[in-house]
Amino acid sequence: MRPTGKLHLGHLVGALRNWTSLQDRFDCFYFVADWHALTSEYASSGAITGYALDNVADWIAAGVDPERSTIFVQSLVPEHAELYLLLSMVVPIPWLERVPTYKEQQEQLADRDLSTLGFLGYPLLQTADVAIYDGRFVPVGEDQVPHLELSREVVRRFNQFYGPVLVEAQPLLTRVPRLPGLDNRKMSKSYGNTIDLTDDADTVLKKVRQMYTDPKRIRADIPGTVEGNPVFMYHDAFNTDAAEVEDLKTRYRAGAVGDVEVKTKLARAVNAMLDPMRERRREILARPERIKEIALEGSRRARTIAEDTLARVRDAVRLRY
Ligand code: AMP
Repeated sequence: MRPTGKLHLGHLVGALRNWTSLQDRFDCFYFVADWHALTSEYASSGAITGYALDNVADWIAAGVDPERSTIFVQSLVPEHAELYLLLSMVVPIPWLERVPTYKEQQEQLADRDLSTLGFLGYPLLQTADVAIYDGRFVPVGEDQVPHLELSREVVRRFNQFYGPVLVEAQPLLTRVPRLPGLDNRKMSKSYGNTIDLTDDADTVLKKVRQMYTDPKRIRADIPGTVEGNPVFMYHDAFNTDAAEVEDLKTRYRAGAVGDVEVKTKLARAVNAMLDPMRERRREILARPERIKEIALEGSRRARTIAEDTLARVRDAVRLRY
């Protein structure tokens, strides 16, 4: 995850929920992508390290266990940059220009100049991030799927030249691979449509009340559409009371429930889900030096693995002296 702001519900349901459950089955590596943050925030980089530690606190509060998973910081493992450089020798520039997020993000973040080499290379750096740990699965949201497609193509091309030295990775999506924000666009900090994991109960209620619903339903007695309606997508994602969700859906379809009830119950469910995280986050933040220690320790461990991969790659490229 890029430390460009606070984590929101999209991060939680699109990625973090998988991060925690995968720990039982895999050797997991989770990292603060601070170089990736720089690709768009290079002109105001001062906030990155603060967000980095804040994000790590959220990961741990959400259940990522530093004893079982390696939590690290990208820029503390400079081998990522060397692998990126070696990959850059074989990747044709049009492959990078074709990645859909490249043009999209340039349009959406029109207030800054993203015509840089760093921004073009974003998915190539991701390729190095994953390949350096022989990563086979990457638990991400839907927006990252094209990046991983490119990654596999790059790995195949690299291996064609140098032998089977790198591994291809597949995305692992959750049940909710793309959570809409309050305005029904993808939830994203740059759209200002987020519910943050750190929002208090009142803020959550206020934000849920603003949420986009079925626009055709201008009165509570008009039958509404549940499918594709973000409020019900949220109920499915966050409300653990399945009977309540079914009852609300039935009455919504029949025009027998008001938005206020649907949203109040949703805010209650989101708050109930966030409460234990809020508690754990408070405990974790009481010892900020411990968060830093975890990130530094994890980075040291990650580095030993990255060094081994790089040794193998340098051999394959025949740059051994
Ligand atoms: P980013 O903040 O762009 O670095 O995203 C970190 C991770 O969260 C990536 O795996 C994204 O795909 C995922 N993510 C971010 N926003 C959403 C969203 N609205 N819905 C689902 N996943 C998301």
